[in-house]
Amino acid sequence: MNRLLIIGPPGAGKGTQAVKIAENLSIPAISTGDIFRKNIKEETELGKEAKSYIDSGNLVPDSVTNKMVRSRLSEDDAANGFLLDGYPRNTAQVHELDSILSDLSQEIDRVLLLVADNDELVQRLLNRAAEQGRSDDNEEVIRHRLKVYEKETEPLLAIYRERGLVKEVNGLGEIDEVTQRILEALK
Ligand code: ADP
Repeated sequence: MNRLLIIGPPGAGKGTQAVKIAENLSIPAISTGDIFRKNIKEETELGKEAKSYIDSGNLVPDSVTNKMVRSRLSEDDAANGFLLDGYPRNTAQVHELDSILSDLSQEIDRVLLLVADNDELVQRLLNRAAEQGRSDDNEEVIRHRLKVYEKETEPLLAIYRERGLVKEVNGLGEIDEVTQRILEALK
């Protein structure tokens, strides 16, 4: 049980939990959002390509994202497992991930779905905006990201549900409490 996806709306706590779970399982946490933000900060070509989409709360084009994920999952540290956070984010990316993993003779073991209600999500993201100043954490863009999640990302869950891979975890409560719930869901 070491090839995992964590999916959930913006603000559900995916990034926070991904790091803790990955540490517990000794696998890398791979966050597409973090990779994009690092590239934006370092002003790389990839960062330049992604920036306008991220700042407006839209998905970065699949052609850009897919290439980045394929290259990251092919690195040595991901050979024995990984926790992927932020990918796939639409059904086309699900099929691309299938293809990437099939080329690596790997399969997803479980999909963690982290849930919380919309009011809580907006509140958390506004708090994070005040603390971290992320360029896509203002109310208008937050509401747009939630809509993009509902329209683009939620539908892909049907594919993984059909494969029997989805475990839903309640993202409300203390951080450590949620981590325990996730570890329980992986047993
Ligand atoms: P959150 O889910 O909390 O909004 P992320 O850090 O996961 O934050 O993603 C931030 C932004 O990065 C997204 O709004 C999107 O623009 C871009 N992004 C991340 N992952 C993907 C992906 N798989 N496909 C396209 N865009 C992505």
